[in-house]
Amino acid sequence: TNEYVADYLNHLYNQIVERNPNETEFHQAISLMLQSLSPVFEKNPHYMEKGILEQLTEPERIIIFRVPWVDDQGRVQVNRGYRVQFNSALGPYKGGIRFHPSVNLSIMKFLAFEQIFKNALTGQPIGGGKGGSDFDPKGKSDNEIMRFCQSFMTELARHIGPDVDVPAGDIGVGAREVGYMFGQYKRIRGAYEAGVLTGKGVGYGGSIGRKEATGYGTIYFVQEMLKDKGLSLRGQKVIVSGSGNVSIYAMEKAVQLGAKVIACSDSSGYIYDENGIDIDTVKQIKEVEYGRISDYVNKHPEAVFTEGCTGIWSIPCDIALPCATQNELDAAAAKTLIANGVKVVAEGANMPSTPEAIQQFLESDVLYGPAKAVNAGGVAVSALEMAQNSMRIYWDIHEVDGKLQEIMKSIYQSCVQAAEAYGEPGNLEVGANIAGFCKVADAMLAQGVV
Ligand code: GLU
Repeated sequence: TNEYVADYLNHLYNQIVERNPNETEFHQAISLMLQSLSPVFEKNPHYMEKGILEQLTEPERIIIFRVPWVDDQGRVQVNRGYRVQFNSALGPYKGGIRFHPSVNLSIMKFLAFEQIFKNALTGQPIGGGKGGSDFDPKGKSDNEIMRFCQSFMTELARHIGPDVDVPAGDIGVGAREVGYMFGQYKRIRGAYEAGVLTGKGVGYGGSIGRKEATGYGTIYFVQEMLKDKGLSLRGQKVIVSGSGNVSIYAMEKAVQLGAKVIACSDSSGYIYDENGIDIDTVKQIKEVEYGRISDYVNKHPEAVFTEGCTGIWSIPCDIALPCATQNELDAAAAKTLIANGVKVVAEGANMPSTPEAIQQFLESDVLYGPAKAVNAGGVAVSALEMAQNSMRIYWDIHEVDGKLQEIMKSIYQSCVQAAEAYGEPGNLEVGANIAGFCKVADAMLAQGVV
């Protein structure tokens, strides 16, 4: 049966590549998932007989639309908008919206595909989706951002709803953008459906702790990884790529738990200070001024800025947290990290390590935490925001943060147990993929083929 399963998975992968030409990121996400699943299909051939993977790898629905808007000079600009509603077996489609010039169908589909299993791992009732636009927020005025968000929502509104599809933020989309999109949705619907978007401001339906959740959750997961080896965060040297929402709150929680964060980055380069990065300054630059990380050295001349975004991986550290974007960490970077003695690599971003980099980590003694488990805290608290919106009741930070910690612990346990049960003890990559897949596959089986 082993050979039969291997042939089946190979054949399926080739079919997917053929039907979805040039979608390299999507192929990559599918390939990594399928590589983990042979033991599952050997044990449970009914997944094969019922065509679960054939269905699961085809999005239920993809919406692509024109987003016209007027810039500050009065010129008409046109961008492309996307929403991939990938799988609704476990609940309404759920996943962020990304505004970045690199956005294309392949990136939207890989993100939505990952989101299905990540959301399943949280144990919350949410399906998988993702959206976005090739709009570049860099250098845009606040009014331009608002008009773009309104135009984007004018088209998207008809496709979403609190029980249908619930977007949130991702790269380039934070509380400000969610606010503008929520305002436009409310105007169009003529009703206050708070649960249609998550990551809202805390003053009008947002959950306390949502902003911090992805970063904090990343560190809670790292804590579990370390605890299993009798280690803790205290005194560990940490480098974190990125300086957006995930990175900032991963740094904040790492420092709170006694670690030393010595570097972070953005798309132009990285800053390094062996005595520790000042998180409040990074917050000021990124959340208030919407500036560049290179500005940090003007405020802290003792820190060093270096151009280029991959150099950060050459800094010796105990814990490396890729929290910027897909494929930011390649095999060469992985080898350098390993040679420099890194103990833990945990992914705050989505698919930040290339397949070759993952291979390096799995063949070494490094503890490797895969994105769909490590960064699930953000969407988990989004689900808690949906719950609060439905109840019209708000929890305090202790309630939300306590639930987040429990969820991250339980995700870690699910990964460990699935890896163990399917013959790959300690392999969290395989564990996360299998645990997430089985949850979704069983729900699909129960609901039948439609
Ligand atoms: N964009 C985040 C993620 O990748 C959050 C999605 C959400 O909260 O819906 O998980």
